[in-house]
Amino acid sequence: MKNISILGSTGSVGTQALEVIDCLDDVRVAGLSSNTDIHLLEKQIRKYKPPVAAVADEKSALALKISVADTPTKVVGGAAGLCEVAAAPEADFVLTAIVGIAGLIPTLTAIENNKNILLANKETLVTAGDIVMGAARARNVIIIPVDSEHSAVFQCLQGGDRDIKRIILTASGGSFYGKKRKDLESVTVVQALSHPNWDMGKKVTIDSSTLINKGLEVIEAHHLFGIDYDRIDVVIQRESIIHSMVEFEDNSILAQMGWPDMKLPIHYAICYPERKKSPARQMDFSRLSSISFSPPDVETFRLLPLAISAGKRGATAPVVLNAANEAAVELFLKGRISFLDIERIVEKCLNAHTIIPTPSIGDIIETDRQIKEEIMYDNGNIRNNSISASDTGS
Ligand code: MG
Repeated sequence: MKNISILGSTGSVGTQALEVIDCLDDVRVAGLSSNTDIHLLEKQIRKYKPPVAAVADEKSALALKISVADTPTKVVGGAAGLCEVAAAPEADFVLTAIVGIAGLIPTLTAIENNKNILLANKETLVTAGDIVMGAARARNVIIIPVDSEHSAVFQCLQGGDRDIKRIILTASGGSFYGKKRKDLESVTVVQALSHPNWDMGKKVTIDSSTLINKGLEVIEAHHLFGIDYDRIDVVIQRESIIHSMVEFEDNSILAQMGWPDMKLPIHYAICYPERKKSPARQMDFSRLSSISFSPPDVETFRLLPLAISAGKRGATAPVVLNAANEAAVELFLKGRISFLDIERIVEKCLNAHTIIPTPSIGDIIETDRQIKEEIMYDNGNIRNNSISASDTGS
């Protein structure tokens, strides 16, 4: 029997994880958490009867506490509540499906409480990869990736081969594949959110459309697999059938394939190391005419090379990259900035930031807070001595 706490159970990965768990008879839910969606969380509490459930928003936590008072589930609130779910004594595994750097402290808490991690929160490794991987090693905790690309690489390495030459992360190319910069000036939120292959949350879908998602995944892969940046390549695989590949010293390449369905890597992570019958969609080769490859267009989608160079700089550079992107995507989703402003804001923040070498968790959280505050202060017009607010616009 596996006991799993799910952080972010009402989001895209969280709800699909519960669908997967519904098909397995040896998994129990040890904890659930949501940011604000207490309506869905109440349904989940009544169905899965976890010992504990958390709501990040304190007010919503109070409301939920009253509405599930007739159940045995203990309701907790705020950041401390998320950590209580991460550390739930009944859990052996914690699925971290919270979006953004908000997942960092709960994930570290889970590791410190010797929980194995099913990692669906890439920002944890992007912002604090060295600290998190170090903590996992010190505690002998396994980190099983849920991100489809990293799951693919992880699966390719199950044979035990260690002579890796390079990792090849595949990318769909996102909603605006083939477009040039002039086309991107006027694209809308609705267009950005219509991903051709994957059904994901809003933040990840926007990140996929700017290609920063792939840059974040390169940083994630660097930490997760301990591979230098110059041995991680990105290739567009437009149909999202090959989820990533590993090339070995003898130039032999292993690829992991499947229909683009997040339930596939979620199911693999939950069942690991076993393979069981899955609710994920089966591949139908008769409906597939080709598997195509092309290099990413880094002239148009500049957030990809920007992210990789922030990863190479290390220290707080990826923290700044991530914070600026989280804030800018939020502004874009609210219709307050244009699509290309996301890139402009991230680039400006990276240029203005003074790197803190070997940052502590406190430095990371504080850097993240400062960057977001600067951006939100004036709708994306960053107020900083080294950059002028007037050239932030179109
Ligand atoms: Mg991915």
